[in-house]
Amino acid sequence: MKLATFTEAGITRIGVVEGDHVVDLAAAAPDLPADMTEFLAMGEDGLAAARAAAGRGPRLPLDAVTLEAPVPRPGKFLAVGLNYAEHIREMGAATPAFPSCFAKMRTCINRPFGEVHRPRVSDSLDYEGELGLVIGRRCRHVPKDRAPEVVAGYVVVNDFTVREWVTKTPQVVIPKSFDTHGPFGPWLVTPDEAGDPNRLGVRTWVNGELRQDGNTSDMTFDCYDLIEILSRAVTLEPGDVLTTGTPPGVGEGFTPKRYLRPGDVVKVEIETIGAIENRIVDEPEETAVY
Ligand code: ZN
Repeated sequence: MKLATFTEAGITRIGVVEGDHVVDLAAAAPDLPADMTEFLAMGEDGLAAARAAAGRGPRLPLDAVTLEAPVPRPGKFLAVGLNYAEHIREMGAATPAFPSCFAKMRTCINRPFGEVHRPRVSDSLDYEGELGLVIGRRCRHVPKDRAPEVVAGYVVVNDFTVREWVTKTPQVVIPKSFDTHGPFGPWLVTPDEAGDPNRLGVRTWVNGELRQDGNTSDMTFDCYDLIEILSRAVTLEPGDVLTTGTPPGVGEGFTPKRYLRPGDVVKVEIETIGAIENRIVDEPEETAVY
């Protein structure tokens, strides 16, 4: 099942994507929560109700709705750097013995087809196509062999990064968290449809030019390793998002470096999941105080 969060007629709610349509669960199953995090917290009961409703609900063409990030405000947006051997080489880094974990702040979350800002303060904007997973069950100290039980589904992430700021600070949280720099989607694909998450092709194009062509089978720490290790430290909760690192081919790895410019279009596609696509624009020039 492909679960989406979408906006239509000014109302944001969840639905089931089938082909080029989305079944509106707010109409087909009005008792279900309209918010993805609350829906995922229902576990199997929610999924079964969504499956049943998908067959009978009113459908909207996908091109008549705006797809949002499947989980627009997750409790946590976790990430891991340097998780593919060839990417470690292109970055001139050493292979970490332990996953290089960090967090993106959730205010950076963007729509799967939303515009991404080239910041006013730096022209070193770079892309990182990645497989992300969404947690479906509250959990702690999950052994690797039980990790599949806690995954609600998989998404495509572009972990946009301001490289210059990575060198300005010993922490990558801020360089990874500029507004608009965390688009993901286009929907959440449940594990039964996604297949083995540790054997999926990950490809990134910039203006139609293939830049990254990797496979999650090359990850140093696979999806289930990451759940085991992270859940030793923190309680994972329904709706939490974890992005798993990027294969080689980022702009930083080229000589000269190939950073993104306004007008560029970046597409990331993951086998069995789908694709997201983001146009780069200059960050608006106003001061905003709300
Ligand atoms: Zn990344």
